Amino acid sequence: MFSEPLTSNWYATPQPEECVVETFDVVVLGTGAAALTAAIRAADEGASVGLFEKADSVGGTSAWSGGMVWIPMNPHMAELGIDDTREEVMTYLGSLSNGLIDETLAGAMIDAGPEVISYLEENTPTRFQIIKDFPDYHPEHPGAKSGGGRSLECPLSRSTSSVSGSRASPSARSCPATS
Ligand SMILES: Cc1cc2nc3c(=O)[nH]c(=O)nc-3n(C[C@H](O)[C@H](O)[C@H](O)COP(=O)(O)OP(=O)(O)OC[C@H]3O[C@@H](n4cnc5c(N)ncnc54)[C@H](O)[C@@H]3O)c2cc1C
Repeated sequence: MFSEPLTSNWYATPQPEECVVETFDVVVLGTGAAALTAAIRAADEGASVGLFEKADSVGGTSAWSGGMVWIPMNPHMAELGIDDTREEVMTYLGSLSNGLIDETLAGAMIDAGPEVISYLEENTPTRFQIIKDFPDYHPEHPGAKSGGGRSLECPLSRSTSSVSGSRASPSARSCPATS
């Protein structure tokens, strides 16, 4: 059946002398929004970061997405005079989940979200803006913002992003960008 016998080396395993061993303080797998945010923060803290992507193009599902992020109590709400409180957000999330949500996890998301937005805006070219009048998905639920404020978008700029590179996901290469 096989012209040559299968040996333990038939699949061309790199030999130890061919391997290049690199070490990093932090290894990040993937190049989606979560991974890149983690990599940026780790590098800013002084860590050497190894960023690895298993796909042929970078960006993951994030590069294909609508790019809208839901961050209650985000720093741009105050600019538009929109009030928000932790209690309102927890009430909204609780009502969406029929009270089954893990409040510790939900609280971590509520508390960290605004910090992530501020951090990225202060330390990277990323800028967010509120999608005006875009209501929460279930404005009829208690704690919802029917007039919007919690949904942010992040317009891409050709001058500040590298998404037009040939290794970007196809959707990121073809998406309209601001100047
Ligand atoms: C069409 C569409 C529109 C969407 N619109 C929105 C929206 O507007 N707002 C919203 O909030 N959400 C939206 N979503 C959902 C959102 O895109 C995802 O929840 C989000 O992008 C996930 O981000 P992530 O960083 O966790 O993972 P991803 O962006 O998926 O990144 C994961 C990356 O890790 C890589 N990877 C996996 N395993 C390994 C490994 N072992 N080694 C190396 N790399 C690895 C993958 O190849 C990938 O690049 C949308 C989804 C789709 C499909």
